[in-house]
Amino acid sequence: MPPRSIVHLDADAFFAAVEQVAMRLLNGASFSWISLKKSSIQLPKCNLSTITMGKDSSIEWTDHTFNPWWGCSKVSPGCVNCYAETWARRVGAAVWGKDADRRMFGEKHWGEPVKWNAAAASEKKRKRVFCASMADVFEERHELNPQRKKLWLLIEFTPWLDWLMLTKRPQNISHMIPWKNDWPENVWLGTTVEDQQRANERLPDLLGHPSKRRFLSCEPLLGAVDLSPWIKERPKSLHQIDWVIAGGESGAKARPMFPGWARQLRDQCNAAGIPFHFKQWGHWSPVQAKKATLSSLVKQFWDDVSGEQVYMEAKGKKEAGRHLDGVTWDELPQVA
Ligand code: SF4
Repeated sequence: MPPRSIVHLDADAFFAAVEQVAMRLLNGASFSWISLKKSSIQLPKCNLSTITMGKDSSIEWTDHTFNPWWGCSKVSPGCVNCYAETWARRVGAAVWGKDADRRMFGEKHWGEPVKWNAAAASEKKRKRVFCASMADVFEERHELNPQRKKLWLLIEFTPWLDWLMLTKRPQNISHMIPWKNDWPENVWLGTTVEDQQRANERLPDLLGHPSKRRFLSCEPLLGAVDLSPWIKERPKSLHQIDWVIAGGESGAKARPMFPGWARQLRDQCNAAGIPFHFKQWGHWSPVQAKKATLSSLVKQFWDDVSGEQVYMEAKGKKEAGRHLDGVTWDELPQVA
């Protein structure tokens, strides 16, 4: 085999090269993904003495957030009060819905993860990147294919970053990713599970993939979710659930998450040894029956898991906090 020549590139040149490769792939060029992985492109050399990067995301369970584009369309009840749509509107970006264009970004934006990767390598400490908070990477739009291909390359070239890919469209994963059974070690695949129907629809698609980790974001949790069909009775063809995040909805139009729903997920995860992260109550949190006085801010509901009346108070996300029965649940999957 001829020796490979190694070329060191700065960030701009690196992404120009990535762009070229992506265009060749799009145009049906004849090299395979495997040969691409063995190509001579190296990560840009960064001046590590000038890079100090810690956590720059407000989301508890990630260090960074990366959006390959902005914009999406609603697909299920969890999307009704989509915070990303509200945020995009607030900053004047008309990128929501089937008819709207998506907002694309330039090379400076795409170069950020390369810097995060260099900083993580220098610290010898892996970092988590949430992808995406303002889009769904697996949205079915052809014009997003070049961005997706660029993203797959970026993931391969940033091995110190664990990419947490969260989607409400896991049915599209298998025909949009290039890896099949040969996933890079740094991809965690996740799907949103807001109620039992979405669990039934989405989990078989998510758990079919041998990615490094598979996680569920049960947020906003809108109904009881029984995970036992994918824990206790999991078919051999499906992989295990590695992490569950649960949380209630925030914002003035938020729908309450009943305590029984959160406790059921916590208890099922605890019994199966699955790390559990309780992100927040959201806008509504439970109050003790003896302290409750019904008003526009305190409402009574029937909790279908506990079989009891519960009182929920609209306190706002900050005051409602993130304790579940007095405990903070911040568990994470082990990483090497
Ligand atoms: S899939 Fe996510 S980003 Fe897209 S509309 Fe739904 S909640 Fe918003």
